[in-house]
Amino acid sequence: MSSPRIGSPLPARLWVTPAGLGALVRRAAVYRCSPTGSEHGGTTMRDTDRALVQAASAVAKLRCRSAAHTLATAARTAEGRVVSGVNVVHDSGGACAEVIAVGTAATQGVHDLETIVTVGDRGRSLVTPCGPCRRLLAELFPELRVIVGPVDDPRVVPVTGLLEP
Ligand SMILES: [Zn+2]
Repeated sequence: MSSPRIGSPLPARLWVTPAGLGALVRRAAVYRCSPTGSEHGGTTMRDTDRALVQAASAVAKLRCRSAAHTLATAARTAEGRVVSGVNVVHDSGGACAEVIAVGTAATQGVHDLETIVTVGDRGRSLVTPCGPCRRLLAELFPELRVIVGPVDDPRVVPVTGLLEP
């Protein structure tokens, strides 16, 4: 994969290799949101959001290759750092991809996630976090933006907007 130009759109279709995945995640990370933009923290889809969807899709495509791992989450800080995780399916309960991503972030000293997205394996669409994950995310990151909806027409909602009234 050639070195991406910052700000250039990501290709719609990607052939992902392990090396390409690292580059893609780094590429999602080099995007910077406008520090003065009125969209900061808002619910408009930004280039950074599309890059995050691409990164999560790449992780799902490359890493979700068994019944034990079926969903991938990518999350981004306001500074542009991206972390990812896949779920763990097991009779004992396993763990959601969002929880793994939050734990991965904490492991790396990241405690200020701004945007998160989860995608399914085998080309499935975006997946809205489950109820317990919504509560967990809202408690840890009250300002979190969540990308949801069909993969070809995603939208951003505040995590608090996903909580039961
Ligand atoms: Zn969950």
